[in-house]
Amino acid sequence: MAVGWAGDGAVQEQISASIEDAAKRAREKLPSGESLSNCEECGEEIPLRRREALPGVRLCVSCQTELEREEQREFSLYNRRGSKDSQLK
Ligand SMILES: [Zn+2]
Repeated sequence: MAVGWAGDGAVQEQISASIEDAAKRAREKLPSGESLSNCEECGEEIPLRRREALPGVRLCVSCQTELEREEQREFSLYNRRGSKDSQLK
């Protein structure tokens, strides 16, 4: 495992915070229970293979992609706020 970049304490702390936040967000949106046979969003049938690969899946591929694009946008907004904060310190 490469640990070369872990030398700088400040950077490490910042990375840990981002990972922690991402993990928290992932846990919050982690689907629970049974997979849906049809997409929660659009009602499209979710292929069995997708349901088996992602236990508790609730969205079809296109709705999931849409959702992830949204989250990606929120995440970059968050990062921008984050770096602004650390500049103030
Ligand atoms: Zn859908």
